[in-house]
Amino acid sequence: MEEDLIKRINETGQRAARLKEQTSQELWDLVMECASILKEIHPTQRKLWLAEVVNELYQVQKGLCPLCNTELDPPLMQVDHIIPFAHGGGNERSNLQLAHKTCNNQKRAKVDMMDLLKYLECRYMNLPPNRRIRLISP
Ligand SMILES: [Zn+2]
Repeated sequence: MEEDLIKRINETGQRAARLKEQTSQELWDLVMECASILKEIHPTQRKLWLAEVVNELYQVQKGLCPLCNTELDPPLMQVDHIIPFAHGGGNERSNLQLAHKTCNNQKRAKVDMMDLLKYLECRYMNLPPNRRIRLISP
């Protein structure tokens, strides 16, 4: 009897975990779709970074890689888009940081869903009113 109940409660827990995973996957797919539509509306251009931009970032970061918190090695660093370029991250300074190439490669296009939503909303709020987008604000 008690064993049955324990079995049932465990199954319930597993179902809840599965549901949570499915829902968050579905939500994530939706956010990705959102990012890809926004990218088409307002594409970001890849560009070569000016030495001035790189130097400024280096100063601000005090020569540290924000991904691993160790010293940057200038020949082996890259300009990293905090919100990845692949998800519509722009070239504005606030979205840029210097990171080790290796750290940047490990990070790839990983991003926190809420960070991405907030970012996209901010970035695209400045579009003309008829193209303005609301993602999370009321
Ligand atoms: Zn690093």
